[in-house]
Amino acid sequence: MWTLVHDRKGYIPPTLPIAVDQALTGDQIEELAAQTRMALGLDASGPILHVTRALERGGIVVAPLALSGGDDDTETVGHFGASCWPGPPDPAIVGYFHGASGDRQRFTLAHEVGHLVLHTRRTFVASPEDEANRFAGAFLVPRSSYAEFIGDQLPTLREFVQMKARWGVSIQALIMRGSHLGHIDDSRKTSLFKQISARGYRKVEPVTVHPEEPVLFRKLVEADAKSGKSSYTAAEDRLGLGAFTLAGLAPRSA
Ligand SMILES: [Zn+2]
Repeated sequence: MWTLVHDRKGYIPPTLPIAVDQALTGDQIEELAAQTRMALGLDASGPILHVTRALERGGIVVAPLALSGGDDDTETVGHFGASCWPGPPDPAIVGYFHGASGDRQRFTLAHEVGHLVLHTRRTFVASPEDEANRFAGAFLVPRSSYAEFIGDQLPTLREFVQMKARWGVSIQALIMRGSHLGHIDDSRKTSLFKQISARGYRKVEPVTVHPEEPVLFRKLVEADAKSGKSSYTAAEDRLGLGAFTLAGLAPRSA
């Protein structure tokens, strides 16, 4: 995998911040997420229009995994992707399970970038999934932007629906974000999730966020197949991955 990516002209490995302190506070994770936006050339505030393209432009290879994503549960979001980065100057790769909603996919990618930033150097972290979820929320909806949205009043469920349309983040993830930031207390959170269950939003939320298509990984695999063999067989020789596995990582259907 590394050879395939390294050998391509024009591929520049990411320059992400890398956490080294063993104990990280929520504030430090917020700051690392802000630094990551900056490293990727994104605005300090405002919605990320295309998370996949932002990562790819920053040298992070995004690969779809052709496996079932399971059910839709915010708490298990960490199990919806995978990531790998030995650290600079090596390439970074994040994978997500193909077929999820766009908001799920975007959160998964942000969560996996969280692992790259937070867990490439730090080992034996007590709650890596919680940290990566906090990072994902901070990366997608910066603290100051969230505070602006919340204003002085507690938002209603309808306002969270509007916020989802603007930010491309699920209603449930937005509520969790408000809880992490201390804007929404436990009783308010319980009340909102009860409303969500009553309306069937746990299974299907209102507002469709369209899935994003990666382009960089496919380009790298296809550029590697110049020998007359099928692209997967040719890439297999250099990647050391079975063609079957590779087909799972980069499904042919566009
Ligand atoms: Zn995770």
